[in-house]
Amino acid sequence: MKHPQFKCNGCNRKTEFLWLDQWDTPDGFKVYQCMDCGCVGVKNIAEALSIPDSSITRCDKCGSWQFLGVDCHTCQLIGSK
Ligand SMILES: [Zn+2]
Ligand SMILES: [Zn+2]
Repeated sequence: MKHPQFKCNGCNRKTEFLWLDQWDTPDGFKVYQCMDCGCVGVKNIAEALSIPDSSITRCDKCGSWQFLGVDCHTCQLIGSK
């Protein structure tokens, strides 16, 4: 498996998604296209079922997905309360 998996809203299945990196998105979000039905949407990387990309890892503290070298977004939200 080379691509992250999400639950697709288009074909309603767990499919692999292509990351469309030419789009500007807020932190923690990326634009993905379903490789099965072609449906395009903005996904929160925290919702990914699996991510093979080595630049994205699970946070040691809260277990959410985070970009390598960037402070965990979820932990920041929790810490700012
Ligand atoms: Zn789909
Ligand atoms: Zn965290």
